[in-house]
Amino acid sequence: MKSLQECITEAEKKGVAIGHFNISDSEGFKAVAEAAKQLLVPVIIGVSEGEREFIGLKEVAALVQVARESGMEIFLNADHHYSVEKAKQAIDAGVDSVIIDAADKTLEENIAVTQEIVQYAGGRALVEGEVGFIGKSSKILEEVPEGISKTSPDEAELFVKSTGIDLLAPAVGNVHGIIKTGEPKLDIELIRAIREKVRVPLVLHGASGNSDEDLKAAIKAGVSIIHINTELRLAYKEGIEEGIKSGEVAPYKFMKEAVENMKEVVVKKLKLFNNL
Ligand SMILES: [Zn+2]
Repeated sequence: MKSLQECITEAEKKGVAIGHFNISDSEGFKAVAEAAKQLLVPVIIGVSEGEREFIGLKEVAALVQVARESGMEIFLNADHHYSVEKAKQAIDAGVDSVIIDAADKTLEENIAVTQEIVQYAGGRALVEGEVGFIGKSSKILEEVPEGISKTSPDEAELFVKSTGIDLLAPAVGNVHGIIKTGEPKLDIELIRAIREKVRVPLVLHGASGNSDEDLKAAIKAGVSIIHINTELRLAYKEGIEEGIKSGEVAPYKFMKEAVENMKEVVVKKLKLFNNL
């Protein structure tokens, strides 16, 4: 069975990216797992602090484990953990990777907090760090939120060297959430420049709403994992609304459309990321 690190290395060699999809419950899990199974590609399930609270950390770890035992290359990521304590809990629960997010702190504080998690993980889980601010929301926004910054290649190099992280989430024009007035363009040259400076794979967050062309170019420039959340949430909610309208009372019937809707989004993204 391949590890997440091995799948990332393989993706880099192939010039593709692994899809990362956030879920809050077993319906979301079912949608993502079925899509990956259908296309026979690796996939990462993401749970933020709030999402993991809802589904249960050990519960989601068990779901992933069962799917893995069936032969799937499916991994669990503790997405955007702001709390050091919760990040440590996630590592102990057996996640494949964890994102310690101290990007809104000073660079020195960010380095110190990230270092602490790298040491605690001790190779048990990959650790992702974030430098540069891309917002915190996973919904539809009227405009680009305040304080959005870009990561400089030198800052990225310093951050990776001083923390020892395995994965880096840079700010390269990407923004969490979907921007109503249109998504800013990704800075492909900056992605390339950062990837040349750092020795670790890059993760693109907030990719909901970005164009297919932009995402393809980002993969070519050195992105190995792409995060989708907001588009999945919208598809889920629309499906639930349709299901409720049908008048069905059995959850496995009125939730069917929601799962199908999410699965459709995941299949579309996985095809794009994997050149299928
Ligand atoms: Zn993110």
